[in-house]
Amino acid sequence: MKRIFKIIFVLSLFFILTGCPGPEVPPQEQEEAKPKNVIVLIADGMGTGHMEVARLFEYGREGKLFMETLPYVALARTYSASHNVTDSGAAGTALANAAKTNNGMIGVGPDGEELVSILDIFKEQGKTVGVVSTNTVTDATPAAYVAKTEHRGNQAEIARQIYEGEYHIALGGGERFFLPEEQDGEDLLVAFEEKGYQIPKTRDELMNIEATADTRILGLFHHSFMNYTGDREILESKEPSLLEMSEKAIEVASQNEEGFFLMLEGARVDHAAHAADFGGIWREMIEFDKAVEYAVNWAEENGDTLVIVKSDHETMGIAASEVMDVESFKEIGVSPEYMAQQLEIDEETNNYTAESIRRVFSEYANIDLDDEEIEEFQDNVWDGNDPEGRLVFEHIVGWEIGSVIAYYYDGGVMHRRTRARSDSTGGHTANTVPVLAYGVGAENFDGVLDNIEIPKMITDIFGFEYEVQGN
Ligand SMILES: [Zn+2]
Repeated sequence: MKRIFKIIFVLSLFFILTGCPGPEVPPQEQEEAKPKNVIVLIADGMGTGHMEVARLFEYGREGKLFMETLPYVALARTYSASHNVTDSGAAGTALANAAKTNNGMIGVGPDGEELVSILDIFKEQGKTVGVVSTNTVTDATPAAYVAKTEHRGNQAEIARQIYEGEYHIALGGGERFFLPEEQDGEDLLVAFEEKGYQIPKTRDELMNIEATADTRILGLFHHSFMNYTGDREILESKEPSLLEMSEKAIEVASQNEEGFFLMLEGARVDHAAHAADFGGIWREMIEFDKAVEYAVNWAEENGDTLVIVKSDHETMGIAASEVMDVESFKEIGVSPEYMAQQLEIDEETNNYTAESIRRVFSEYANIDLDDEEIEEFQDNVWDGNDPEGRLVFEHIVGWEIGSVIAYYYDGGVMHRRTRARSDSTGGHTANTVPVLAYGVGAENFDGVLDNIEIPKMITDIFGFEYEVQGN
């Protein structure tokens, strides 16, 4: 018996020293597989609270969002160079240029130095590149991929940079920034057309475009932001949905045998959250989740694709509270912005009439305000900083309406006064945001990341040279 033990001992020592015999790994499989395409989906302003609200509203306690089925999950910090709490300009710059910058800046560092966008890296590699957003295509998140400016408000300048950069696909709102009034008399749409771009203005025009390797599209479906999902029916909108824009963008981009990089943004999750509009958060999140599902299913069928779902920052500290009145929120069919447009101004007081405030809350939100609540609302929409005593901007009136409704039905949300004091963000928070990944290279997205690491991680997976900038 002693001898047998000795043989086993010698044999095990042999295997430990030489490695266990196993199937030989062919050399080409030892290298890590690289993807060909990348689809980045960004829900602007999405935190885990927005996910939870959407999940509870749509599927109930035991249901799941599609994005919750993705295999890899990380969290990302989002602070900017200038603030603990980022705006979408600095956040977009971090995600598209791997660099921290000041709030309000796009594609440049804090001192104005121009950064290199990940989209340009992919374009140089011969890939088709593009941005899709329910915002204007020239606003912060898409802009950070395609433009460089110290002031995110320069949307006409950003439109010009999309033209000069010759990005293959840009779909969203913001037509007015391309027109002569904003472009020193030049019609930028004509210039795009001369470069061979197709310029669809409606859903049908977009969906009828034939996808070839040479197809270039500038789709502008609204003069400003595209309409909220919930308002499209009442406004008889002819816009495509985020899902339809995503389908067409992927169809066109995938004609390129070299591959593609697309950024698809559900921008109005952020806008609904600013307005404390829980029904809007629900509808915009579900619309976004459908685009995620489409992208992941496409990647599953085609292989070779990395899909990353993420957010640029959290907006309004949205939380699913214990007493949140889900059914009452769901019954509200339109956005607070639409409700604001239904208010009437009293010419004598220059404020909204008590009668119209009462009617709008009752008709659209099933809330009966008393006289005191109506007076408080009138105070809140009065611009205290304006010596002439005027109303705040209409979209802020929408925010005030949303906050009244959110408090009434117990949605968990930042106080309106904190939002009003948040000068550079209008109610964003520094909460970490989710990063979810699927496909080739997805396993790299793990742990707590800083937002500027993400583009660098993507280029590393592709083996492209790229540095975290300005640090
Ligand atoms: Zn925002």
